[in-house]
Formats: sequence, structure tokens, C-alpha cells
Amino acid sequence: MDTIERAAKKFLEDRDWNRLRPSDLAKSVSIEANELLELFQWTNHELDAVRRDTAKIADIKKELADVFLYCFYMSILLGFDTETIILDKLRDASKKYPPSAVKDRGGKEPGTDAHYGLIKKAHRKRRSD
Ligand SMILES: [Mg+2]
Repeated sequence: MDTIERAAKKFLEDRDWNRLRPSDLAKSVSIEANELLELFQWTNHELDAVRRDTAKIADIKKELADVFLYCFYMSILLGFDTETIILDKLRDASKKYPPSAVKDRGGKEPGTDAHYGLIKKAHRKRRSD
């Protein structure tokens, strides 16, 4: 994480981009995320099929890196400890989606039914109570 943050910070400083507005970075995260999404437009291939598509994988890597970089830029310029905020969020997600609630669901492919929506709704209700 430190290696990436150092390189990203230097990249920003070398270009005097270390004064970019957070709103522009947030827009850029979204734009790059949509470029990633565009790679899947009109397709619905399963994980193994995507893994076998070497051209697609190369494109995914580039767009994913764009998303990561804009996220790092924002985190750096706002002075966040990137590793901490990611680990905090992962801890939250672990509570929200405990393995006992999501694993071994009778062979159902993850994310293909309303189960996750129900878990999310219950989690939000617990937080607001
Ligand atoms: Mg891009």
C-alpha cells in the first residue's frame, strides 16, 4: 500500500495536481468505473469465461487501475490512511455479510437473487434501531 501511495503522491506532485478538487476526483472515480462497466455491456459471462478472455482481462486491468488510482488520489489529497479506511470498511462488510448468512446457499450463484438485498435491508434496520 505504501509503495502505491508514494508513487501516486509523486505523480500528483510532479504535475502540480495535488490541488485537485475532491469533487473532480469523485467524478473521475465514477467515470472510470463506468469505463470498467462498459467492458461488460451486452454481456453476462460467468467468472471462468471472463478469466479465459485474455483481451478482456487486459482491458479490465487498465480500467480497474484507473479506478484504483483516482481512489488513491482522493485518499492522499484528503490525508486519509487508505489502509485503515479499507480495513474498517471490510470489517463493516464482514458484519453485514457474515459467512453463515451467505455461504453454501444450495449451489446458488452469489449475487443472482434477492438474498443479498434482504441482508442489506436487515443490516440497515439494525443500524437505525
Ligand atoms: Mg479509463
